[in-house]
Amino acid sequence: MTRRFLARAARPAGALALAFALAFPAVATPPAAVPAVGNEAYPGTIALHVDATNLAQQVFRMRLSMPVRPGPMTLLYPQWAPGNHGPNIPLTQLAGLKFSAGGKPVEWTRDPVNVYAFHVTVPEGARTLEADYQFLSPLDTTQGRITMTDDILGVQWQSVALYPAGYQARRITVQPTLTLPAGWQFASSLAVDSRTGDEVRFKPHDLDTLVDSPLFAGRHFKRIDLAPGAKQPVMLNIVADNAESLEAKPEQVALHRAMVDQAVKLFGSRHYGQYDFLFAISDEFGTIGREHQQSSENGVKLGYFTDWNRGEAGRELLPHEFVHSWNGKFRRPAGQDVANFNTPLQNELLWVYEGQTQFWGKVLAARSGLVSQAYARDALAADAARYDNTQGRAWRAMQDTVNDPIINGRKPIGWGNWQRSEDYYTEGMLVWLDVDTKIRELSGDKRSLEDFARAFFGVEDGRTETLYYTFEDVVTALDKVQKFDWAPFLRTRLDGHGPGAPLDGLARAGWKLVYDDKPSDAVRASEERARVTDFTYSLGFQVRQDGGVTGVIWDGTGFRAGLAANTTIVAVNNRVYKGDVLKTAVREAKDGKAPIELLVRKGNNLRTISLDYRDGLRYPKLERIPGTKDRLEALFRAVK
Ligand SMILES: [Zn+2]
Repeated sequence: MTRRFLARAARPAGALALAFALAFPAVATPPAAVPAVGNEAYPGTIALHVDATNLAQQVFRMRLSMPVRPGPMTLLYPQWAPGNHGPNIPLTQLAGLKFSAGGKPVEWTRDPVNVYAFHVTVPEGARTLEADYQFLSPLDTTQGRITMTDDILGVQWQSVALYPAGYQARRITVQPTLTLPAGWQFASSLAVDSRTGDEVRFKPHDLDTLVDSPLFAGRHFKRIDLAPGAKQPVMLNIVADNAESLEAKPEQVALHRAMVDQAVKLFGSRHYGQYDFLFAISDEFGTIGREHQQSSENGVKLGYFTDWNRGEAGRELLPHEFVHSWNGKFRRPAGQDVANFNTPLQNELLWVYEGQTQFWGKVLAARSGLVSQAYARDALAADAARYDNTQGRAWRAMQDTVNDPIINGRKPIGWGNWQRSEDYYTEGMLVWLDVDTKIRELSGDKRSLEDFARAFFGVEDGRTETLYYTFEDVVTALDKVQKFDWAPFLRTRLDGHGPGAPLDGLARAGWKLVYDDKPSDAVRASEERARVTDFTYSLGFQVRQDGGVTGVIWDGTGFRAGLAANTTIVAVNNRVYKGDVLKTAVREAKDGKAPIELLVRKGNNLRTISLDYRDGLRYPKLERIPGTKDRLEALFRAVK
């Protein structure tokens, strides 16, 4: 005890207690806890109005009105949304929060442990609590994904809603209304009650369904029927920066219709009443691919239809998101079965949820003709090479990368090849190719992963309510398709440390990964998209147009010479850096001349490094293994 405290202790006890209470009020009042989720329905309907008319400043204004009882209550702003795979809903964009009851302000305090929770005390006599607040769309991409532009807006209800803690999301009823910019059109899978001018009143929905039913609206809008005559329609709802960009040629529409047809043939079921692709073609609205059961949010750059010959990259987006209606939405991993949007999602089966969706998304793109078989093979070669050269496998198994959306939330990283990222998507796809070809091999090509897709995701045609599954369920379903010891087969690939990616599937499909000195169209397209020259499989890095080094392979040639992603190549063998200059140097070094000399800059310092590399330019390709069955051709062929 200090002397000062002893002096105070000599005072009468009552005065001491008062002195403590005044000095440390926060200690004296423990924070209100966020109520645990119960089973009752929230009494009454919450009215949520969204005013989406402030295009100039990209501000969504909300008014929420909820029936309440007097006393303490807690409201939550969603933190986790299905499909985000992490606690990534941007709380910073919620602003201006004010509560009131009967026209009088009600103060809020933020929970000190759960910062997404707001505590209020509803005054005596109050029956309704009002909340006014805004959602501020990022103004530029450094702040996040732009959700409102002069021509397009997207409403994700989880970003504009507050909801009472203590209740399951599916037991909270919300009646949404929306004010649109004058004359705009919109699409959403939400059922509309009425539309008067630019005011839209939706039917009441439970909060789960509401969050699963986002909305795109636009000044320029076009709707294309992708399943003419179908009992469960599939619509492509397009918004764009300008009217020209909406125009799809009949042959482009035919390819998208074929994709929908191939998906329905694959799964043999539908788990939507009507499916709506929300599709933004824009250089300003944020790009996105987000799955929902009866819709999906898709955002691509300008030119999707109008610059069709630019290349096939990006055409796997719509099939990928469509597959999610079955895989990820209708059927979901058990760890994704949560009560509300502030309960952590568990990601351990994302290699099924995303990995097999990646597999079928690519297969459907090829089967429908959205991409050619040659493109699909080149893209597969690029994926196989990427994961075969992932050095981070030595310390981090692919299984662990399912945690990456929680750990990193897709922020840029410096050493991707070593840190690893969300590899469960595309390496997951390679594992499923492995499974597919194993089933084909064991069954004498009578069965394939398609039988699993139908038996696992295609069950209970018409059912929209979610069916959850475990790892054991996956293994059991595979075993029913083809008897085999699937659990260790999968676990070896998920938990393994290589070396190299699981490429047995390629070999069983009759192809092998090789490298030659000519980049494929897929490699060239990805160089163009990322604005880099790709030396990944030769020098072990890529270079941006300004000479900036990126994508350094851990322990590759460039790495061993001390290169990192904050280094810029100034000159190559005393010539100013250009992609072609370095390519020429790599070619010439092959003929046994001196090593490649680079003048590099890091910060204000220049230094010279030398790359002792003799193997020439190397780009991934697939090559047929002579005398084997071409199972890739069978996989990519359209189903009659
Ligand atoms: Zn996905």
